[in-house]
Amino acid sequence: MKLPMNIPEKVVTRFAPSPTGFLHIGGIRTALFAYLYARKYNGTFILRIEDTDRDRLVEGSIDHIQECLSWLGLDADYGPRKPGPFGSCIQSERKDTYKKFALTLLEKGFAYPDPYTKEEVEVFRNQAQNEKRAFLFRNHRPETFQAWDGIAPLRFKVPEIKRYEWVDEVWGALSAGEEALDDFILIKGDGYPTYALAHIADDYNMGVTHIFRSDEWISSVPRFLSLYEALEIERPIFVTLPPILRDDRTKKLGKRDGAKDTLEYRTDGYLPDAINNFLALIGWNPGTDQELFSKEELIRTFDITKIQKSGGAFNEEKLLWMNKEYLQKLSITDFFLYVKNALPEKIITAAAFSDEILNRLLSTVKERVHIQAEIAESAEMGEYDFAFFTPSAEQILLKWKNDTTVLECLPRLKKASQLLQNADFSSSETIKTALWLYAEEVGRGELLWPLRVALTGKEKSPDPFIVSYIIGKEETIKRIENACAKIGE
Ligand code: GLU
Repeated sequence: MKLPMNIPEKVVTRFAPSPTGFLHIGGIRTALFAYLYARKYNGTFILRIEDTDRDRLVEGSIDHIQECLSWLGLDADYGPRKPGPFGSCIQSERKDTYKKFALTLLEKGFAYPDPYTKEEVEVFRNQAQNEKRAFLFRNHRPETFQAWDGIAPLRFKVPEIKRYEWVDEVWGALSAGEEALDDFILIKGDGYPTYALAHIADDYNMGVTHIFRSDEWISSVPRFLSLYEALEIERPIFVTLPPILRDDRTKKLGKRDGAKDTLEYRTDGYLPDAINNFLALIGWNPGTDQELFSKEELIRTFDITKIQKSGGAFNEEKLLWMNKEYLQKLSITDFFLYVKNALPEKIITAAAFSDEILNRLLSTVKERVHIQAEIAESAEMGEYDFAFFTPSAEQILLKWKNDTTVLECLPRLKKASQLLQNADFSSSETIKTALWLYAEEVGRGELLWPLRVALTGKEKSPDPFIVSYIIGKEETIKRIENACAKIGE
């Protein structure tokens, strides 16, 4: 029996998630590393869907995975929507390939049908447990094998019980003894292959040169090695990634520690470049102080030898910081949309709302914001109301409630309004210039405080020059005169 062809290419990597609903950010880090490495060497990056565990499937997952990758710009050369020269990238559509591998193993005498019922295997397992020894199926291997009817589970007959030594690109030289080897299942009773057979067959068939995967598989490697050996195929290079730890490094980051589904980061307003940059630095150290890397820089700099063995911590504050850095790099148009999409109905539908005002508000927003959710929150709390709503008489008067000198402010506000009539409103600086001499003359606070209240009705806001610039000349003068009228009443 001839095995399906191995298509030789320079570097071929793959991301091989199981479509079980949630794409943990750790999964994306694996995808990112495999992607960066393939791109660095002008290789091929494959998205392979490992859906042979039929009980764990979640509908819509394949689309979800693709959506996550495409949001982050980690586009695969072959994937569920784009079969390769090796056929489909969805394992459930590749059963013929696994069958060929299984038949090859049968021919070579390295596979046999499992003669036991599930209950019988359970008895062996319990027995081992009671005797406090590891359960190994090979201790119950039948002496003679029946022919495989294609229905019974097919088991691997491990050719040799020996110690395996291998080199992992990240972990270095590793070895494991006989206890790690067993007659594991190749094809299950439902006709689908197990992970061991499926991934080895596919990696070979797809010409995969480097396996980037999480460390949860490391203890199974001896079993995989025994299968490569039985099939007489060369194994790819293993690149086992360090775990992503909680910020306090006490354990792996889990859902309960705030690990979110990848698309939730998009909903929160994280930028793809920030996520990629952040994840790249978890477990990979470029060896310099540089922290911000564009995708192109990551591709250029990425290096397997600088992946660390010890886990990398997931520090949300760092992610926020990084996102802010990337927000600063957005084009005005993109940042405009980023902010506009976060604004609540009450602002978007306000009579005074205009794209022009919003444009002038952008730098005020940019100074503080880390993620989109913050913009929505600040807007809900009224922090940007000054730009779109004229303060009410109550607001204005309330801020002076205990101020006996409120009347003293009147002439100052009137004078300011007069000075602003002829002012240049092209920036907050030019507005400041128009008022500054007078402010110095009467005392800065004596002018700036009433001006702020007149313009915003609040005690806290950007300085009145910025507010004036944002709302424009006409509105500024209108608000000051309106405040004078209310104070005068
Ligand atoms: N389907 C496996 C998982 O989701 C993939 C492991 C691998 O990359 O080979 O864990």
